[in-house]
Amino acid sequence: MKVYKTVKGLQAYLKPFRKKRKKIGFVPTLGALHEGHMSLIKLSKEKSDITVCSIFVNPTQFNETSDLEKYPRTYEADSALLIAEGCDVLFFPSAPQVYPKDIETEVKIDFGKLDKVMEGAFRPGHFDGVAQVVKRLLDIVNPHQLYMGQKDFQQVAIVSHMMTHFKLKTELVVCPIIREPHGLAMSSRNERLSKKKRQAAGVIYETLQWVHDQKSEMSVHDLEEEAIDRLRIPGFRPEYFQIIDGHSLRPINHITKKKYVVACIAVWVEDVRLIDNIILQGQA
Ligand code: AMP
Repeated sequence: MKVYKTVKGLQAYLKPFRKKRKKIGFVPTLGALHEGHMSLIKLSKEKSDITVCSIFVNPTQFNETSDLEKYPRTYEADSALLIAEGCDVLFFPSAPQVYPKDIETEVKIDFGKLDKVMEGAFRPGHFDGVAQVVKRLLDIVNPHQLYMGQKDFQQVAIVSHMMTHFKLKTELVVCPIIREPHGLAMSSRNERLSKKKRQAAGVIYETLQWVHDQKSEMSVHDLEEEAIDRLRIPGFRPEYFQIIDGHSLRPINHITKKKYVVACIAVWVEDVRLIDNIILQGQA
């Protein structure tokens, strides 16, 4: 696996492949890689000719300094996983490479309601940082395909909106959520949970599945209330549970047949904030 820390190095390496019309697949990450990330690499290996993974703990998307500081940095283990998976290129830039002084990287676009609800409401500025880093990384890598996880459902909506706004030609490929054996969605933050709470956090997915199974039996309001109640257990603090239209991300009152409907959740477990979601009906 080639490792590049500079934009110049990466672009020079990719140039001949681009000339030969090879398809470049790109998987941006914050590192602390796990099976969820690896599923994106796997899909890129299947669909694209060259797979580029980036590891960059982007400071502009962290709305709390303590979260940024506590974010795990596990370069050695990450690169071993990437090599084992057959990733072709790792881009591991410093902040000045991503945000050089002479380039305006801020993304000032109107996301409408997309960045005001759920994560946007609880993590002010987070999606401006996400849009900024993904736009900048796309400008650097210029991939044919961008692979992102459904795990971060709202992030996908923001990135998709940003890509449409800038008329980017890159295809956005959304990959399914990979889970731990007891159902907890894999996340780099899971490492910070105690063993007991990590096991117990399987209740988040159990709740999402329960909502999925009950969606025709109960009103949206009752489903949301009951879901929150199920998560009010010692050590858990649900932040939101919302049933939304999967396109607009607006809360919905009724699940009617033609709608694309998703249930999204954020829960604090100990001092770790976890998010998850389930598609109740329809597709993107
Ligand atoms: P992160 O390093 O958390 O920014 O994640 C990098 C990419 O991996 C994002 O597109 C995430 O949505 C995706 N990802 C993270 N966790 C999972 C998971 N459990 N299953 C599938 N994709 C995931």
